[in-house]
Formats: sequence, structure tokens, C-alpha cells
Amino acid sequence: MFCAKCGQELAEESLFCSKCGKSVNAPVVILRDGFDVFIPRNVLALWSYYLGIFSLLCGITSLPAIVTGIMGLNYAKKHPEAKGVVHCWVGIIVSIFSLLLMAFFIFLLAKNC
Ligand SMILES: [Zn+2]
Repeated sequence: MFCAKCGQELAEESLFCSKCGKSVNAPVVILRDGFDVFIPRNVLALWSYYLGIFSLLCGITSLPAIVTGIMGLNYAKKHPEAKGVVHCWVGIIVSIFSLLLMAFFIFLLAKNC
């Protein structure tokens, strides 16, 4: 890679230009009390996560949770810095679980009526 300021060729792992001292575009991580680490910038992933958790109480939100989860995974693929893959998978898996749970209760109700 090359320095964006002066064009000096740099080693891949270098953080600063050896010629002009400009910092190489290393990912800048801004930490606000660890908040940014826990909360990804992938909004879809968060929606999926919270809808998925909520679907345990109210099964109907499991469908949008799965949809936003899949959209969030696609978003995370295109924007790896946004993260949120774990949140997506939690949202999707919890939603599938609550769908199965809902199906099970409907099955029990249908059987007993
Ligand atoms: Zn330079």
C-alpha cells in the first residue's frame, strides 16, 4: 500500500507513513464507555435482535425479525465494519424457536378443543 498524502510505499502492517508521518487509514475505533462495541451500527441487526427477543412474548414479531435478520446479514456482508452478524443470528434463531413454540401451542390447542 501507499501513503495517501505523499505516496511513499509502506509495509502492509505499518500504522504511520515512514516519510511524512501521516497515519495510514487504519480503522479508527472510537470508544464511548464501551457502548460502540456492544451496539453495532447495523440497525437491521438490532431490529432483528429485539424483534426476535420480543417474539418470545408475542410470536407475531418473529416474521419481521427473520426478515430484518436476513437483510441485516446481507448488510453486514457489504459493510463489515457495521458488524451485527451475531445480533442477526440471535434474532433469526430466537424467532425460529418462538415460531416452533407457537406452532406447538397451536397444535396442543387444536388437539384439546
Ligand atoms: Zn506519507
